[in-house]
Amino acid sequence: MYTDIAVIGGGASGLAAAIGAKTENPNVSVTVFEKLDRVGKKLLSTGNGRCNLSSRRLVSEHYHGSVKNLMEIIRNTPSAEEFFMTMGVPVISDEQGRMYPRSESAASVLRSLRMRTSELDIIEECGFELTEIRRNKRGFIITSKSGITAECRRIIVSAGGYAAPQLGTDGYVMRLFRDMGYKTAKLCPAIAPLRVSSDKLKGLKGIRVKGSVSAVSGGEILKTEYGEIQITENALSGICVFNLARFFNEYEGRLALRLDFAADLEKSELTDYLERVRIQRASYPLEELLTGFFSKNLAVYLVKNTFGRPLTEKISTLRKRDIIALADRIKSLEFEISGCSSWNNAQVTAGGIHGSCVDTELQSIRDRGIYFCGEILDADGDCGGYNLQWAWSSGLWAGRNCACSLKGEK
Ligand SMILES: Cc1cc2nc3c(=O)[nH]c(=O)nc-3n(C[C@H](O)[C@H](O)[C@H](O)COP(=O)(O)OP(=O)(O)OC[C@H]3O[C@@H](n4cnc5c(N)ncnc54)[C@H](O)[C@@H]3O)c2cc1C
Repeated sequence: MYTDIAVIGGGASGLAAAIGAKTENPNVSVTVFEKLDRVGKKLLSTGNGRCNLSSRRLVSEHYHGSVKNLMEIIRNTPSAEEFFMTMGVPVISDEQGRMYPRSESAASVLRSLRMRTSELDIIEECGFELTEIRRNKRGFIITSKSGITAECRRIIVSAGGYAAPQLGTDGYVMRLFRDMGYKTAKLCPAIAPLRVSSDKLKGLKGIRVKGSVSAVSGGEILKTEYGEIQITENALSGICVFNLARFFNEYEGRLALRLDFAADLEKSELTDYLERVRIQRASYPLEELLTGFFSKNLAVYLVKNTFGRPLTEKISTLRKRDIIALADRIKSLEFEISGCSSWNNAQVTAGGIHGSCVDTELQSIRDRGIYFCGEILDADGDCGGYNLQWAWSSGLWAGRNCACSLKGEK
């Protein structure tokens, strides 16, 4: 089999790369080689099936990694709105600036991408798991696990990272390039829960509460996020935690999360409120002190954890200093992080092929003719549509540059 451009991996960035290449140079043949039996399987799970395909707040603070011209690539490729409008998919956004297809259906995004690839005569070769790349006179020979070979002049590598291996991405292709001598940045599950030893979370399982979470190391606050905090048997979760998961990479063994369950109130406002209920509910047991302020489990946990006394004691036994201690606990409950989540529970891979391995066109510096895009590169974004936007932009960019390099060669 022969194709001008072989795209390795039919995920978000691979499909965008194929479209970008064919749009730039309709004379080239483009084939997407996908390991699974269908392309775009991960896309179907994005945004809980709604596909948070981009953000209205595309600023560099939301991106991480070593690809130096990442923002330039995003600025110089069509916006998600433009890209999807060419496929007849209008885009809407919520109050946080998260962008979704109007249908709020990831399946309809994949269907539209595939209608576009079909219009452009892009070929899909599913069940092709790349295991080897060799150079030949014309370009490259790629080989699949089952021994099928294909010849091509250019390769675009869009095989993703390690996150969510159940959706096709087990990091094999990244390891292949690492073994070929490519520098890789340290890997870590990102957009993922963070683990806390289960005895520390006893009594908190199932709690969902709005608040803020700060990543703390050696007493220094590294970053604070606001949103819904979710607590499971052995992990802290929720979007605000997801966005701090990447700190585990750098601060492993000395990272804590500090939770503020009343981030909307100043400490003095909270103390005033608690003081009022102390007087108002004087004849009630301690377990009723926070009734109406938090759900039962959290209310009981905080009172028990702060006072260490039987919950049947009367609220009237509390002193002003107890109220101050409770306010402190509500606004600053710290948990040491014992581990990061498994790749199965992570949405994104932090780390990957280092930005120094590619030029501004995302072409490999050592192996000319090979381009990279998407999550396989050391580039990741926060939760909120940033990763898919990187997949579309880097795919279109690599595809366009790759196809451009073939102009005049035929
Ligand atoms: C559950 C979940 C929800 C998410 N939700 C969002 C969201 O709402 N918004 C957002 O911005 N981001 C979201 N993400 C992240 C986003 O999906 C990824 O960052 C994005 O899909 C990366 O695109 P990619 O093309 O680089 O890799 P992928 O989409 O992972 O595609 C890589 C493809 O390569 C194939 N492949 C792997 N190895 C081989 C091989 N050896 N040979 C051939 N093919 C191979 C894989 O099967 C896969 O199809 C979510 C991720 C997960 C797991």
